[in-house]
Amino acid sequence: MGAIAKHKTSVVDEKWDGPANEKKLKTDQDYSYYAKMYGWVDPEGDKSTKSAYKFPHHMVSDNGTPGAANVKACISVIGVLNGARGGAKIPDKDVKGVYNHAASHLKDADIDPPELKSLDNNGVEIRTYKAEVRKEGEEKPQIKGRAIVYESMSPDLCGFKEIIHKGAVGDLIEKNDIFALKNHDENLILGRNISGTLKLVETDEGLDFVVDPPDTTYANDLLVSMERKDIDKCSFAFRVADETWEKIDGEPVRHITRFAELYDVSVVTYPAFPQTIAELFGKQIRTPQQVYKEYRSRMQVKPEPKKEYNKIAKMKLRILEKIK
Ligand SMILES: [Zn+2]
Repeated sequence: MGAIAKHKTSVVDEKWDGPANEKKLKTDQDYSYYAKMYGWVDPEGDKSTKSAYKFPHHMVSDNGTPGAANVKACISVIGVLNGARGGAKIPDKDVKGVYNHAASHLKDADIDPPELKSLDNNGVEIRTYKAEVRKEGEEKPQIKGRAIVYESMSPDLCGFKEIIHKGAVGDLIEKNDIFALKNHDENLILGRNISGTLKLVETDEGLDFVVDPPDTTYANDLLVSMERKDIDKCSFAFRVADETWEKIDGEPVRHITRFAELYDVSVVTYPAFPQTIAELFGKQIRTPQQVYKEYRSRMQVKPEPKKEYNKIAKMKLRILEKIK
C-alpha cells in the first residue's frame, strides 16, 4: 500500500476545488471508497478516515460519491510530485505509483501528462569540506574530516543557500557501501566503511569520517601532499531524497532533510565543481547551478535581470526623464 492503483473513470476538465470536494466525502468509509478519490494512502494510517489519504483528484457528487477524475487536479498532483508547493510528503518509492495514477487519467482524456521530474533529476551531488591528516605518536597517519555539516547555512551556491538538517543521513552509513577515494577515482581507494577502513560517525554537528589509508604509492603520495597542506579538501557525493525550499530575506534556501544515498568521500585536488569532477561521474552529476535551475523552473520564477541590464535600464530611464 502507498500509491493507490490506477483505475478507469470518466475525466472532466473543470474548475478544481480540492477542499470543497473532500468536504463532500462521507465519513467512516472503507479503503475501496476513499481509493476512488485519492492517489495515495498512508500504509500505517487509519484507512477509514480521509486524513490517511493524499492527492485528491476526483469530483465528488453532493451525495458523497466520488466520480470523474479532474484534469486540473491530476496536473496539480504531478506538479506537487515534481516539487511544487513544498513537494510531495510521501516516500520516494511511492512517487512513481502516484504519478502513474494521475497520468493514466490524463491519458484517458487524451492529454499528455507532464513529465515526472523529481526522481529522475535527483542525480548525484557533491559538496566540499575540509580534510586533514592526523598523526598520533608513532601511529600510521589517518585522514579525517567532516563530510557533512548539519544546521549550518552554506555559502551562496550559484543563487541559493543550503542547510542540511540534523538526521538527514539516517541509517545510510550502515546501509550504503561507501568508499573513501582520491579525487572520486574508484581506482584510488583509501578506505571503505564495510571493511572498517573508513569510519563514518554521525554526530549532532554532522558526519565525521576517519580513513586508515593503505600502504600504497598513491595513498602515501597523498599523505605527503596533505601534510604539506597542498591538498586539504574533501568532497562528499550524495543523492537527496527529501528537500524543501523557502525564501529567507528574499533569498531561496534549500533544506535537505533526508539523503537517498551516500556514495563516496573523496580527498580532492579541486575543491569546487569543475568539469573534471563532472566527467569522473559522467552526466549524472547535478551541479548547484542545475539544482537552482530546476527549482526555478518548478516555481516558474523568472531569473533576476542581470546587473548590466539594470544599469542600462536606469540609464534609459534617466535619458527619458531628461527628454521630459
Ligand atoms: Zn483516480
